[in-house]
Amino acid sequence: MRNATSGGPGRLAGNGAVAARAPAKVNVHLGVGKLRPDGYHELQTVYLAVSLFDTVTVRRAEGLSLTVRGEGAGDGRGPSSVPLDRRNLVWQAAELLARHAGISADADLEIDKTIPAAAGLAGGSADAAAALVALDALWGTRATRGDLATLAAQLGSDVPFSLLGGVALGTHRGERLSPVLARRRWDWVLGIAGDGLSTPAVYAELDEMRAAGTLPDGAELASTEPVIAALRSGPTQALAAALSNDLQPPAIRLRPELRRALRATSDAGARAALVSGSGPTVAGLADDEDTAVRLAAELAGAGVFRTVRAVHGPVHGARLVG
Ligand code: ATP
Repeated sequence: MRNATSGGPGRLAGNGAVAARAPAKVNVHLGVGKLRPDGYHELQTVYLAVSLFDTVTVRRAEGLSLTVRGEGAGDGRGPSSVPLDRRNLVWQAAELLARHAGISADADLEIDKTIPAAAGLAGGSADAAAALVALDALWGTRATRGDLATLAAQLGSDVPFSLLGGVALGTHRGERLSPVLARRRWDWVLGIAGDGLSTPAVYAELDEMRAAGTLPDGAELASTEPVIAALRSGPTQALAAALSNDLQPPAIRLRPELRRALRATSDAGARAALVSGSGPTVAGLADDEDTAVRLAAELAGAGVFRTVRAVHGPVHGARLVG
């Protein structure tokens, strides 16, 4: 096994550190098909990258080590706590890229989290995408964007989008992406309610509700056309009317307080509110930046959310910083 080439094409700071950041996402459309024999659901989703970023900083070292700061930094246990060992997607990203490049996985990995864990915002995926970009630069592996996208898909269904950013249609498990043109900026308020929700638990609840006939069986997926057309040119009311998430009913069933959180977001003046991904984050669509900031202030005082943020999208995917 060879060692990483020194420096490579990346931007090595004076202290030998390389940093990259990647965004959270909101699924403005999340259609979930039937459970497939391989245990996955066929998805048709439209991702929007929003301005809440995690940063991953990497440094030369022997072997791998990991530090986590910020949102969810704790003892590494529990659904809202970020794992500190090889269960962490950043650790897995390092091992995968090193294997791909035929080098040994040597780096100190540091994650600065502002994206809450297990919130339906793909925080772990953002970290993995940022790690791929930062380590490619640190190790000089000269992976192409296509190579990184292939590795990203092996790490998780949302990781390719965290790498790409912007707006994209995701099919298969969400990892097959086609970029979508969005001509304008969209403003949101994100309300993070209580503890994290486990994504597999939300999918299992959806399967149960479908088996019981409480929900349609998922054989027919709703068209993504209306949401894509609305994203392209607006107005806000058109996107508000087109938002949909098949995981919202099971997320509400597992976390009934979400109903109140959605109502509070709409009552405060959001054009529409929906659960982001598998929840429990609520995304409220605002008319403009001022409205998003006002909604954030009002909802922060309403006592329904642990954290409230005004964000906008689309924003770029994982890239080097500094
Ligand atoms: P999903 O991408 O499955 O929809 P999510 O967006 O709801 O998930 P994430 O923040 O990605 O939530 O975390 C999901 C789980 O992934 C966490 O419960 C945690 O155990 C694990 N995980 C692994 N690496 C990370 C990481 N770097 N940050 C956060 N969670 C991580």
